[in-house]
Amino acid sequence: EAFDQQMSALTRAYLDWHLANGVSDGRGFFSQYRDTCGTVDVNAGSIAIKVVDVFYAERLPLSILSTDSFIASALVRQGVVPCSPISPSTGVTMQALNLYHIARQRNPHFSIQAYVKTLCDLQGVQFHPYLSRQFSIALDVYLQILSNVESLVHEAIGRSNSNWRLMHACPACTYTLKDEDPLQFKLLYTMDGNDSLKRVLKKVTRDDSESAELPSTQSVGGDRYLTRDYVNNFAGDSSVDMLSVDDKDNPCAGRWNNMKDEKTRRMWGVFDESGIFMAVCRHGFSLVIADMVQSGEQSKYPLAVVSKLLDVFGKDLGGGYDIGCRFKTTLSRSVLGQSARELNHTSLVGAFHGHAHKRLCQLDHLTTYVKGLGLEDLEGCERTFSKSNALASSVRYSSIFHRRQAIANYFQHADDFEVYANLSTFLYNNYKQALGIL
Ligand SMILES: [Zn+2]
Ligand SMILES: [Zn+2]
Repeated sequence: EAFDQQMSALTRAYLDWHLANGVSDGRGFFSQYRDTCGTVDVNAGSIAIKVVDVFYAERLPLSILSTDSFIASALVRQGVVPCSPISPSTGVTMQALNLYHIARQRNPHFSIQAYVKTLCDLQGVQFHPYLSRQFSIALDVYLQILSNVESLVHEAIGRSNSNWRLMHACPACTYTLKDEDPLQFKLLYTMDGNDSLKRVLKKVTRDDSESAELPSTQSVGGDRYLTRDYVNNFAGDSSVDMLSVDDKDNPCAGRWNNMKDEKTRRMWGVFDESGIFMAVCRHGFSLVIADMVQSGEQSKYPLAVVSKLLDVFGKDLGGGYDIGCRFKTTLSRSVLGQSARELNHTSLVGAFHGHAHKRLCQLDHLTTYVKGLGLEDLEGCERTFSKSNALASSVRYSSIFHRRQAIANYFQHADDFEVYANLSTFLYNNYKQALGIL
């Protein structure tokens, strides 16, 4: 997109706007605009553009200074994100974009169309589908700017390591105090796949097997997402099939017929991404996410997740997984087997799923019987998914990029505003519960 070439100028313009706007006392775009109207430089050019805010829209001349690199960056500097990169006729205010951006995280059902219709109703304008399209373009630009600003900030404060977020994902798990006693498990996480966040494959004709989606240069920032390529590095390992029945050491072998790929293969034809596979720490912070692509829960997804976690966290990890006993065998036979043993990785089974395992297996893997687990049930994924499932309706027919954007933004917001905010209460309640038991 033409926006890509302008992005660094747009990011600088956003920073200028944000700096100037810090003292605006919460006034909206239009009242500010009228205040500064008289002070426009006589040498400045101007462009007339329809500015859309939440309660009001008007066609206004906005100034273009000689210091502005692009028309778009001139608009962004004044708090308006244009809906087209070269000669925009319409723009949306930062406030209107930010309102939707945040509202969507709190209510993932809230679609762009619903928001644009809300604005139309408020302003007494008839809704047209092209308005949604325009808003969606401006929103993408806005989110891209925000993510660029975030990486600039991280760079400025020395957090440019690409694993920085993951290394500090959870204050309780990853922040070690001086002289702190080491625990049996340095970090307990739980991972699972979830098929709610499917996305329908777009095809040109009914018999076409290729996706009709246009290739896009847009990509989602942040390190939460494992790329498809990273995951596929572990695809060769699928020879160690997680669900093969011939394992003598495993008392639960042959129990997981419901997870066999053939049973659900027909479904994969319809969907491109068939869900997500993710790991969360025991406090509920999201660690990594991978897309499951045209398949069920194959072994490459947990292997990719474990590989990333071993790389970043190193020794003494404990991981809960609903078929943890089976995955232990898979892991030790895979390319990761050596380092998993050296780094003392433990595969466990969550308390709820444990009931489907045989008694002998439970004694080895079930959280109830393993020393060092305490009250932890390693079922955090189910709690996380029960909330994130609300995203399903908005990602099913979106593009690859927009689906990832929605998922990544959702988990970032949930970590910052939900999980982090509830962390103290969570720890306090667990502590009280533990005291009660002791
Ligand atoms: Zn944690
Ligand atoms: Zn088992």
